[in-house]
Amino acid sequence: MKTHTDYLYFQTRNVREYVRITDQVEEIVAVSGVREGMVLVSAMHITAAVYVNDAESGLIADIAEWLEELAPARPDYRHHQTGEDNGDAHLKSLLLHHEVIVPITEGRMDLGTWQQIYYAEFDGQRRKRVVVKVMGE
Ligand code: ZN
Repeated sequence: MKTHTDYLYFQTRNVREYVRITDQVEEIVAVSGVREGMVLVSAMHITAAVYVNDAESGLIADIAEWLEELAPARPDYRHHQTGEDNGDAHLKSLLLHHEVIVPITEGRMDLGTWQQIYYAEFDGQRRKRVVVKVMGE
């Protein structure tokens, strides 16, 4: 089995941001030379997420609103007793999960028509990274 590892770096302008990364991951898959296998895309942080869904701006606004309802930014999280102020970002990350696995078929990611890979930042304005690990033949 062949493996290939690379990293994507982010420093978002806003605290919360949704970044489409499908093309960057596809490029890493192409460089890897893997024709049949899978690619793991995993945020290396506890306040960010990686997910697969539609690249539609209305939906992204809906996701942001839904996360804010379930895990609102507020001052009274117990986590803040440590001096942190990002309790909501941890919870938002748990809701969308930190990683995805995408199948690779004939050298390309085997995504459905509307499937796009997104990096979701919930505590940005600092340097963050995502590991991309390609595995296969
Ligand atoms: Zn924290």
